[in-house]
Amino acid sequence: MSLQKEVYIKIKSELDQENVVLVAVSKTKPNEDIEELYQLGQRAFGENYVQELVEKQASLPKDIQWHFIGHLQSNKVKYIAPFIHLIHGVDSLKLLTEINKQAQKNGRVISCLLQMHIATEETKFGMDFAELEEALAASIHLPFISIKGIMGMASFSDKKEQVRNEFKTMNHYFKNIQSKVGVPFTMLSMGMSGDYQMAIEEGSTMVRIGSLLFGARNYANN
Ligand SMILES: *Cc1c(COP(=O)(O)O)cnc(C)c1O
Repeated sequence: MSLQKEVYIKIKSELDQENVVLVAVSKTKPNEDIEELYQLGQRAFGENYVQELVEKQASLPKDIQWHFIGHLQSNKVKYIAPFIHLIHGVDSLKLLTEINKQAQKNGRVISCLLQMHIATEETKFGMDFAELEEALAASIHLPFISIKGIMGMASFSDKKEQVRNEFKTMNHYFKNIQSKVGVPFTMLSMGMSGDYQMAIEEGSTMVRIGSLLFGARNYANN
């Protein structure tokens, strides 16, 4: 499968009506697919491997807004710090501190989302509510980062009610923090190909959609 133009146009107009930002997740996909979507007006693209992102950024149009959606290691922040638009998965104070340092070196402020752990699976990264509040408090002393909101992934599950409850929980924490810190805490990144409509019903402001737009990923060929 390759780029699904009609699907893109349909989803994009759905999301525009709801004021939800679309991050097109282009991981493992070739530059040609990204360029095709770019021609249709898409500017926000998401990647989850630093090396792949750095290579794509170097060869694709410079007005693309690159979102890092994977698990970021502190020692790799320096490679994306010069250009990254938004880092979604910040899950430790250590990482936040390193992003601040690399942002300062590049003379810019880097926008971040704190990753919240909501899914029941052990393997998913993220902070609990106490850690989230701790990171927010500490970020007052990190002038080169701007925490814009939270990101999370629901369980990979057929149990729709469970997934919905996880989105609800995330929105609950998001609203709670927003009422305390105010501007610029406005972004709630949740929802993927399989669950984005439900995520929007539960308050998502930004969805990360890959396979619906680009077709299934084939890691074996990558
Ligand atoms: C791959 C990925 C997505 C997109 O997943 P699809 O199911 O292909 O839409 C979204 N968010 C994160 C964090 C991802 O790693």
